[in-house]
Formats: sequence, structure tokens, C-alpha cells
Amino acid sequence: MRALVWNGHELRFDPSHPSPLFNSQIEDGSPQTVGATGSRPPLPRAVIKVHLAGICSTDLQIFKGYMGFKGVPGHEFVGSVSEGPRDLVGQRVVGEINFGCGECDYCRRDLTRHCPNRTVMGILNADGAFAEYVAVPVENIHVVPESVPDEEAVFTEPLAAAFEILTQVQLDPGDEVLVLGDGKLGNLCAQALRLSGAKITALGKHAEKLALIKKAGVRTIQLKDWKPRLFDIVVEATGSANGLELALSAVRPRGTLILKSTIAGNHQVSLAPVVINEINVIGSRCGPFPDALAALAARQVSVTPLIEAIYSLNDGVAAVDHAGKRGARKILLRAL
Ligand SMILES: [Zn+2]
Ligand SMILES: [Zn+2]
Repeated sequence: MRALVWNGHELRFDPSHPSPLFNSQIEDGSPQTVGATGSRPPLPRAVIKVHLAGICSTDLQIFKGYMGFKGVPGHEFVGSVSEGPRDLVGQRVVGEINFGCGECDYCRRDLTRHCPNRTVMGILNADGAFAEYVAVPVENIHVVPESVPDEEAVFTEPLAAAFEILTQVQLDPGDEVLVLGDGKLGNLCAQALRLSGAKITALGKHAEKLALIKKAGVRTIQLKDWKPRLFDIVVEATGSANGLELALSAVRPRGTLILKSTIAGNHQVSLAPVVINEINVIGSRCGPFPDALAALAARQVSVTPLIEAIYSLNDGVAAVDHAGKRGARKILLRAL
């Protein structure tokens, strides 16, 4: 199959990468190899023909050495099941990215995304979706409502990550929430949180990006016009180490700071304000796919304005270059 492959130093397009199709035909439970990483999602799994995949900043971090990943990257995708349980074959689906072992305490408590033995699609020991086919555990698969086109469904994974915040903090109408960062993540967080009825303000550097968020119904402030004030909840979604300090300074005493950015490298920031102001700090990563799909189906969020360009998988290396350009919105890969 066609795939993009990261060998730890270089990303290249491979026109004849080993396909998970072949491997999934071994049904005896003996060790199998999937693609270049030699990883093996637990059975039962399905093989999905990828329609569209999204390049995310985590992928760009991986190409700087994050997680030491090697293999096929990519964890945002929509596709159709080509092999798997009969009721799923042919269905248009998205897939959660954490593959649990199915046996540990976390997996038994439905917390596969914290399974210590997990693999993560395109990020940790499992091949991802920048390919014609990707193998995913059946339990990770969610069917996409017919009314949601591929160009929207491909945002399910990052949108679910935004909805995760609503599973972690109780937002009340009238709560003042600051979302720091006007990139893709900040945009999706602002839109998801708006549905709670809380008062959302998005703070960012870029007028054009803020305009996109404003169009979705969120109040925006450009950083150059920022006058320090305090919020009940601050979401740090800048994707840069510098955002953290400003985020901390904007949380009211006894307020909540939610950290959304994963950055390769170390932060240097004083934690004294956390103690002095008794701030709750919450780390927030992957989230509920059903909530994201429901919001897309109900037209409660608008994601297609975030698309900057769609490349063929064959031009994936150029697509990744484009995604890394300053200010780039979402770059998609079409694998069909
Ligand atoms: Zn991502
Ligand atoms: Zn587990």
C-alpha cells in the first residue's frame, strides 16, 4: 500500500509499504507484524481504508523527535472498514487512537487511554493513518453519522480532545472562561466550551485566526489589546511553552487552569502562583468521540473553515512541509 513512513530522521513516501490487510488474515493469535513498527494492536481489530487524514501539531512534534516514534504517523482520520466484523464492513468510521491491552486495571475501568501497556496510533508503537489502510481495535471504532461529510469527520479526534474538558470540569452558564491560543486546538476548544453556556473569550496573536473563532460565535481578543484580568477557568491551548505563564496569570484565586498543549521539551515557569492562588491545574488530552460526532451531526460546531489545503497522500511530504509553515491551518491528506 501507499504510506508515509518516518524512520526517525526523515519522512518519505513509500509506494509499496507492507499493508495491515495481509497481516490481519493471520487469525491464530500468534505474534504478528504490522508495518514498520512491528507493533500489534490487540485483536479483534478491523482494517480501515483511509479516506482523509489530518496532519496535527503532534505529528510535527514527532518529526522533531517527540516520543521517539518510527513507522507510519497519523492519528486523525476518517475511512471505511474494509475488514472486520460484518456489521462494520463498508461503514464510514473514525477511530480512537489509544489501543489498550484490554487486561490491566485501567482497561477494565474503561480508561484504555491510560493503559500503561497501550500503543497509540501513529504516536507510540502503532502504525497510523498516513497510509491507504490502518488497523484499529474494533472497540475503538465509531460509525460516522451519514450527515457528517469526510471533511468534517476527520476533525473528530481533535474535537473530542476539546470535549474532554467538559468531562473534567463543571462549567456553569455565566462562568468566565479564557481560551488561550487561536490555532486549531484553541478554536475547537472555544467552540466546544461555548456549548456549555459559559462565557468564552479566546485570546490569540493572529487577527485572521481570531476572526474564524469569532465567526463561530466566540468573543475574541487579540494579544496586543490584552488587558490583564481574571477568569474562572483558563484553557492553555497555544501549543507553545510561552502560553503557560500568561495562562497562570489569568486564573482567579481558586480557579482552574486546564493544560491542553503537548510540547516536546521543557517548560520553565514559576509554580508559586499555583500555590498562592490555590489554583487547580488539570491536564487534558484525548476525549469522547461520541460527543464530538454528535456536535458535528447537530451542526453545533464549524470545522471546515479550519481546512487550509487537501493534498494527495502521494504528496504527503510536501503536505507536512506546508503544515509546518507558520500560521498554517489544517492540512489534510487524501488517501483514496
Ligand atoms: Zn492530534
Ligand atoms: Zn491495559
